[in-house]
Amino acid sequence: MEIDQLLVIGFIAIFSAVSGYFKLLKPSGAFSAFLTGLLIWAGFGLKGLILLGVFFLTSSLLSRYKSKVKEHLGEIHEKGSARDWAQVAANGGTAALAGMSNFILPDPVWLIVLAISIASANADTWASELGVLSKQQPVSIKSFKRVPSGTSGAVSGFGTIATAAGSLVIALTAGYLFGMGPGWVFLVFLFGVAGSLLDTLLGAYLQAGFQCVRCHLPTEKLIHCSIPTKQISGFNRINNDAVNFISGFTVAIMGMAVYTIL
Ligand SMILES: [Zn+2]
Repeated sequence: MEIDQLLVIGFIAIFSAVSGYFKLLKPSGAFSAFLTGLLIWAGFGLKGLILLGVFFLTSSLLSRYKSKVKEHLGEIHEKGSARDWAQVAANGGTAALAGMSNFILPDPVWLIVLAISIASANADTWASELGVLSKQQPVSIKSFKRVPSGTSGAVSGFGTIATAAGSLVIALTAGYLFGMGPGWVFLVFLFGVAGSLLDTLLGAYLQAGFQCVRCHLPTEKLIHCSIPTKQISGFNRINNDAVNFISGFTVAIMGMAVYTIL
C-alpha cells in the first residue's frame, strides 16, 4: 500500500471519529461512515469522497441549523440528530455498494448509481431539515390535512423547493467533478427529486406510525411518556431508515436501467 493511500484512509478515519466527537454521528454511525467513505473512495477516488462530503457536511450543518426551533421534532422522530449506523446505511448504503461495484467491476453505470443515490439522500435531508422551518404546517399527502411539521409523508412548499435545491447541488457537483454531460446531470437531478418524492409516499403509506397512549401525540417513537406507544398505521418493521434506503435504492436502480437503455 502506498503512503498516499494510507493518508486517505487515515483521513477518512479521523473525519469519522471527529464527526462522532461532535455528536453528528453516534459511535455506530461513525463506524459505518468510515466504511462508506472507504468503499466510495475505493470505487471513485477522491472525487467520490468530495461528493459524499458535500452531502455529509451540508446535511450535518442543516440539521444543526435552528436546532432550537426543531426541538419539538424530538417528540415525533424515533431518533435524535446524531446519526446511528442504520441512518448512515439508509442514506449512504447504496452509494457504498456503487463504490464497491466500481472497484470490483469498473463501469460508468456505477457513477450514475452513486450520483443518484447521494442526490436522493441530499434532497430528502434538505427537505426534512429546511421544510420543518416553514411557517406553515405541512399537508399530509394521505389525508390532505395539515399535520405537525416533521411528520413523515407530509409536504410543504418550502420543503419542495429544498428538495429540488438539494438534488441540484449534488447533480451539479457530480457533473463538475466527473465531467458528466448536461443530459446526465439533469437525469441525476430528476431521479434525486423522484427519490425524495418516493420517500414521502412510502413515509405516508408504508412507514409505521405510532401514537402515545397517554398524551395521544402521533409519533414515530416506540416509547412516549415513559410507556410503549401503540401502532396506528403502516407496517411495523418499516421505520424511517427503511423508507430512506428503499427510496434511494429504487431510484438508483431506475437510473441504472435508463443508463443501460440509452
Ligand atoms: Zn406521550
